[in-house]
Amino acid sequence: MRGLDQALKPALAGLAAEGLYRTRRVVESTGPGHRVRVDGRECTAFCSNDYLGLATDERIAEAMRAAASTWGAGAGAAHLVTGHSAVHHALEEALADFAGRERALLFSTGYMANLGVVSALAGRDDFIAEDRLNHASLIDAARLSGATVRRYRHADAGAAERRLAAADARRRLIVTDGVFSMDGNRAPLAELAAAASNHDAILVVDDAHGFGVLGERGAGTAAAAGLGPADVPVLIGTLGKAFGTFGAFVAGSEALVETLIHMARTYVYTTAPPPPVAAATLASLAIVQEETWRQERLVELIARFRRGAAAAGLRLGAADTPIQPVLIGDSAEALDASERLLERGYWVSAIRPPTVPPGSARLRVTLSATHEDAQVDGLVTALADVLDVDTRVALA
Ligand SMILES: *Cc1c(COP(=O)(O)O)cnc(C)c1O
Repeated sequence: MRGLDQALKPALAGLAAEGLYRTRRVVESTGPGHRVRVDGRECTAFCSNDYLGLATDERIAEAMRAAASTWGAGAGAAHLVTGHSAVHHALEEALADFAGRERALLFSTGYMANLGVVSALAGRDDFIAEDRLNHASLIDAARLSGATVRRYRHADAGAAERRLAAADARRRLIVTDGVFSMDGNRAPLAELAAAASNHDAILVVDDAHGFGVLGERGAGTAAAAGLGPADVPVLIGTLGKAFGTFGAFVAGSEALVETLIHMARTYVYTTAPPPPVAAATLASLAIVQEETWRQERLVELIARFRRGAAAAGLRLGAADTPIQPVLIGDSAEALDASERLLERGYWVSAIRPPTVPPGSARLRVTLSATHEDAQVDGLVTALADVLDVDTRVALA
């Protein structure tokens, strides 16, 4: 189409004018301790989701290499055709054990798991209540399902319950992040489970940022809240974050998993993930559960960062997870602060609308078990340096 570029350019120019233009930085090399070379600069990354420092773990890389020799690089077909290998199957069994559920089902990505699960469980006659700050994939999933969707006030179980009470539907779902990806706070899962139970609704929890990190041996946000399969019948986890590899899973009952195998279109109509990735995740899952120093170290570093940031007068949210956003507000200001941090050797990305609500741009700091104390202290100093006094409100 001849006029395509002409039609596209004004919107791009508009994004740039509002400080919302996005560019990708090229990572030239990556090593232990989150040392990376990016755009020609050596720096320490404080913005990946590799919370346990496993993405560059040599044992996991070795498991992947060994599996590539045995299985080759690709699965060759969907799970229901010839793509479901013994290594995928073993990983599903290990993930079911880990999540404390009868079964687990692998998906290629978390985005696809969410689309597949929600649209398999809900349709035109159904009702979905979603937290306002849910991940984009959960919002898209609800839209795709064709169900009636209502969003409720962030982390407000009472508001979720009022939505359910007002709904006239065949089936009701409450869908929430376990840990909110851009804010780092936990969902009120016990209250949401009670609301679901009062209205015969199904609680669906996407614990992309809780599995591996929170709870005993990284068992996740639901386990940390003392909730079992009856409270949270549908649990979703991703493998590209704390596990350091790639992919996702849904854990639940036998009937749930069998239903997904038949009905989740993002499971049925796509190639199975590469077997070496599944083998790497099996190795990672064992490390996550054995090396509990990683979760303990994170707790220490989170406290250290929050103490330092409070002393420097930085605006933090109420998060007790490795996601510790520093609130800025204005998008251009957040972008500028991110740029100046990089000049000082710290890579922290600026998160802007539409990923977060208008006027709430932030620096999304994420901590990892393999950061050093001195790296965290250095980051706090650099943040205090870079942010203007008026964006730094002393915590009274
Ligand atoms: C990252 C994320 C996803 C998507 O997972 P991918 O495997 O990266 O596709 C889904 N939900 C939440 C809450 C996430 O943070």
